[in-house]
Parts: sequence; C-alpha cells; structure tokens
Amino acid sequence: MEIVIVGAGPAGCYTAQLLKKYGFKTRIIEEHREVGKPVRCAGLVGRQVFENTLLPLSESSIINRINGALFCYRDDNFQIKREGVAYVIDREKFDKNLSRGLEVECGKKLIEIKKEGSGYILKTDVEDIYADLVIGADGASSQVRKFININRNNGKDDKKDKKRDRVKLYAGVQYRIKLDKELTSPSIAQVHLREGIPFFIWIIPEGDNIIRLGVISKNCRKDLEQFMEDFRVKGEIIEKLAGIFLLGLTQNFYKNIALVGDAACQVKPLTGGGIYYGLKSAELLAECVREGKLGEYDKRLKKKFGREIKFGLKGRQIYEKLNNNELEEIFLIFKKNAGFIEKMADFENHSKIFIEAFKNPKIFMEAGKIFGRNIGKILF
Ligand SMILES: Cc1cc2nc3c(=O)[nH]c(=O)nc-3n(C[C@H](O)[C@H](O)[C@H](O)COP(=O)(O)OP(=O)(O)OC[C@H]3O[C@@H](n4cnc5c(N)ncnc54)[C@H](O)[C@@H]3O)c2cc1C
Repeated sequence: MEIVIVGAGPAGCYTAQLLKKYGFKTRIIEEHREVGKPVRCAGLVGRQVFENTLLPLSESSIINRINGALFCYRDDNFQIKREGVAYVIDREKFDKNLSRGLEVECGKKLIEIKKEGSGYILKTDVEDIYADLVIGADGASSQVRKFININRNNGKDDKKDKKRDRVKLYAGVQYRIKLDKELTSPSIAQVHLREGIPFFIWIIPEGDNIIRLGVISKNCRKDLEQFMEDFRVKGEIIEKLAGIFLLGLTQNFYKNIALVGDAACQVKPLTGGGIYYGLKSAELLAECVREGKLGEYDKRLKKKFGREIKFGLKGRQIYEKLNNNELEEIFLIFKKNAGFIEKMADFENHSKIFIEAFKNPKIFMEAGKIFGRNIGKILF
C-alpha cells in the first residue's frame, strides 16, 4: 500500500515513525526546505508529551522546566505551583528530532488532489505522486481537509452547506524578548487575562532572561504591543512569529484520506495547544492503519477526545461571551480556589478541573451563576 503523508510537523512525523515501526513504508512530503522551520508555536508542552507517548521522544529539545503559573488580571494575581508541570521546548529541534530516521521529501508542496481509481494522485509543485492512502498532516490551512470538504459536498465549496465542518480560525503572534531587567521567576509561566482577548496573554520564561510573550486575538499584534506598553516590558525583540489554528469538530476520515494534528482540529479549545492531541491522535491513526480499520478512526478519536474537545468548545464559547464584570468574577473565583486548582488541574485534560469544581457545592454556586447567565447566549 502506497501511503503518503502530507506535512512534516509533529503530527506527520510521529505518524510516519509509528507506521515505520509497524512495518509500513510511507512517503512524507513537506513544502518547506527544512523540517521545523518556520516556527509557529509558543513551545510550551505538558510533561505528558514526553512521558505518555507510545514511542519515546528525545528530550534534547527541552530548554526550560515550568513549575507553575501566575494568573494575572489587571493588578491582581495568584499563583499555582506544580513542580515540572510543563516544558519549554525548542520547537525547531522538537520537530527535527521527530523526523530523525525518516526520509522527508522537503521542498515539495501539495497543490491539488485528484481521484485515481481507489487511490489519489497528489499533484505537487515538483511531481505527481500516487497514494492508496493519503494522510493530511498539513496543519491549520490543510489542503487535504479542503479537498475532503469539497468532495463530501459533491464538488461544492459552499460555506452554508450543512455537511461542511464547522470550524473557527484563530490567529496569534509571539515575540521572543531578551529582557533588560532580571526575570524574578524564571520557572513560572504567566497567564494574563484581559478584556476583549478570547484567550490570554502568555509569558513563557525560556531561560537566560529570555521570554516568549504572545497572544491569540483578533488584533494580536496591536494587543501584544499594548500589553508591552502597559506592563513596561523592556528589552530586545530577538524574534517574532505568527500563526493560526482552527477549533471545531471535523470528520477526519473520508474515502482513503485521513487527517491528523491541526489539519484535524486536534487542538485544546481552551488554550490552543495542539502538540499533545496531535501526537495522541497520530497513535490512534497508526493503530487503525495497522489493524486495517481506518473506518473506525473517527469513532476512536471521538471516544478518546470527543468529550474533552466538546467541553472545551462550550467553555470557550462561554468565555468569549463574558462581560468585564464576569471576567473579573471568574478570576476572583479562581483566585479564591487556587489551592483546589493546584491539586486538581490537568495540563492536557481541562474538563477534569471543571468537573471536580462543579462537584464542590460552594464553587458550583458561585461559578454556576455566571455560566448560567451565559449559557443562554450560546444556545440561542
Ligand atoms: C501562536 C501559536 C502558539 C502555539 N503554541 C503552542 C504551545 O505552546 N503548545 C502547543 O502544544 N501547541 C501550540 N500551538 C499549536 C501547535 O503549534 C500546533 O498544534 C502543532 O504545530 C500542530 O502540529 P501539526 O503537525 O498538526 O501541524 P504543523 O506543525 O502546522 O505542521 C504542518 C506541516 O505541513 C506542512 N504543509 C502545509 N501545507 C503543505 C502542503 N500543501 N504541502 C506540503 N507540506 C505542507 C507545513 O509546512 C508544516 O511543516 C500554537 C499555535 C500557534 C498559532
């Protein structure tokens, strides 16, 4: 069976590594000249990325260890401590490590997909490639996902079509800054909640007084620069990056084409982190290929992540509807229950903390009022 993987990001490379281990030969094509470049990621991953994958991942990309987070709203804040909860990675090195031992065909961009018998011809800017099975690991602006959508809709690219996946696009920017002043907590990440920002502003300490300061919002560059001005962040900007991701629920297998990673919206809706879900989904996909049960891929994904993603999407919808007072109320509830969050929070499974919180009658009453007020806005 000719298997072609489009995209040599973490999801594509890890799928290729798993399939190689299971004895399948794959081709992997990548539009850029080098794996891992350009970087479009803040590079903060939960320790589970290195502790809970089927294939052991090299830890040589880890550059800092995070022992907790400082949550800030206006001039108030509180801290959650968790030894080694997450790692700051060199994302370029992380991707390169994942591609080790694979023959990635760099500088080959998928342009178009054409049906050919029970398989497909992948038209690239270099050559045409035949595939019995196409794996779209080509990130948020996936050509492969677009092809599936159009074909499921009988050739129409109709945005109103009911069968079309419902996804929402988010954009983010990040500056790497060498600070003028010494950073007081070099192993604590900062999460700044702000009005009008659907996610949060992050400050990730990289070490050597370098921070990664970023935001996901409609006017991300403006919001980031406003934040730098408000908080008097002074230093040399040594790198800027920008990227997008999609949130939503998609169909990820269609007539011998499977999607994995960001192409399949395998992203945590509350934070936008996608590396862990992408890797774990790659494991499910490779297992389906090995067992010859690709038709079960969507079912298995739903079983593993469906509840978590649906929960996160609802939580995100509510969060985005909060007014300023409610945002402050939520922050204060979190602050009052910092000890509880410290004990219960799970970096990769966000629903856990909310489910546990709602079992607590006091938190249930306080947060329930705010969610109750807003649930109507997302239902009607
Ligand atoms: C600003 C920002 C910050 C983020 N921070 C974090 C974070 O801290 N932690 C975290 O877990 N996640 C984070 N993410 C998300 C994370 O970057 C993605 O979830 C992850 O990169 C997904 O991996 P992937 O392999 O699915 O896709 P990608 O990493 O996007 O890889 C897709 C690959 O496919 C290639 N490709 C695309 N189209 C074609 C084509 N037509 N032909 C050939 N090749 C093609 C691309 O060049 C790329 O190499 C962030 C995202 C953004 C935008």
